[in-house]
Amino acid sequence: MMSSVLKNSPNANIDKNVLKRYMDLPVNENIVQATYIWIDGTGDNVRCKDKTLDFIPRSEKELPIWNYDGSSTNQAEGHNSDTYLHPRAIYPDPIRRGNNILVMCDTYKFDGTPTETNHRKGFVEALSGCKNEDIWFGIEQEYTLLDMEGRPFGWPVNGYPAPQGPYYCGVGADKVYARDIVEAHYKACLYAGLKISGTNAEVMPAQWEYQVGPCPGITIGDEMWISRYLLHRISEDFGIIATLDPKPVSGQWNGAGAHTNVSTKKMREDGGIKEIEAAIAKLAKTHERHIKAYDPRGGEDNKRRLTGRLETSSIHDFSAGVANRGSSIRIPRGVADEGKGYFEDRRPASNCDPYSVCEAIVRTICLNE
Ligand code: ADP
Ligand code: MN
Ligand code: MN
Ligand code: MN
Ligand code: MN
Repeated sequence: MMSSVLKNSPNANIDKNVLKRYMDLPVNENIVQATYIWIDGTGDNVRCKDKTLDFIPRSEKELPIWNYDGSSTNQAEGHNSDTYLHPRAIYPDPIRRGNNILVMCDTYKFDGTPTETNHRKGFVEALSGCKNEDIWFGIEQEYTLLDMEGRPFGWPVNGYPAPQGPYYCGVGADKVYARDIVEAHYKACLYAGLKISGTNAEVMPAQWEYQVGPCPGITIGDEMWISRYLLHRISEDFGIIATLDPKPVSGQWNGAGAHTNVSTKKMREDGGIKEIEAAIAKLAKTHERHIKAYDPRGGEDNKRRLTGRLETSSIHDFSAGVANRGSSIRIPRGVADEGKGYFEDRRPASNCDPYSVCEAIVRTICLNE
């Protein structure tokens, strides 16, 4: 028996029509509500707080640097807690609409050095060394919806759903759960101007995917984090939890990844497959360094997922292949046929920091580090 009843979900039970009365209140047309968003000390959680602006900013450069209590986010000591938020990119806010904005920030300690989980800075530095490569990234974000008791949403209270098979790209109430969140999130990402390129239901029931990209350079990290903020924020409205844990259910259930698709200008040109093969040869020599960068805990999270089964490669070995979903790197069949395009790195965990992952890729394939 499937149980789709929300358990202990106070947020979902609030009448959203009452909220609407207040959200519709007119305010001075120059007032902007800005949600500053950042990565906390865990490296995979997002935090946010709101600031009222009395002007309509055209660029993140017009926004004030702000601060927060880093001792409450595992990023500072209580006696010296002020941590700084530097606005890096702004997006239209699909939650509040109007001139209101979302602000992606990176974080700095009192002395101006980046916090331990600020991987944006390193990625920007790496990119500055290879501007002519015009590198693009596309990330497939897999995630799992949970009820308030931490069980995959829609799973039976006692026991498991029928084995995997019918759920991937499934349609129907016995195949997929809480598509409402997927639809709401897709529209919200489009409204925010993110380059969301698609969505699909995944192999494990209650697991879904969306893709962002291809995005040039730093924009992949900024857009991915805003898309994750929106996923958590929208799920909050529904009283459902979206987890990026890379292996939410152990055993014969697929884990969740963040496959990272990569191309340089030369890879996209005729004969680019040679460039792709050269990049793969470099990646073969730096496997361990990449595994360390591919989840927020230096490879510990990915240990549970990269078992060599369930469409993953072993965490211990590097492999590459055309159309092979059991390898570290996959060259899509269409790319092999055309002799140009991009490759897919299947190793990054769903909770990876895209800034870290893409920085590692740039350093290996462009900077030859
Ligand atoms: P899969 O078959 O692995 O499930 P998806 O369709 O889910 O593939 O995702 C493909 C990803 O590849 C998307 O994120 C897309 O943005 C990205 N992509 C497509 N072309 C390029 C390119 N030239 N460079 C980098 N990424 C690309
Ligand atoms: Mn306070
Ligand atoms: Mn995919
Ligand atoms: Mn997938
Ligand atoms: Mn993929």
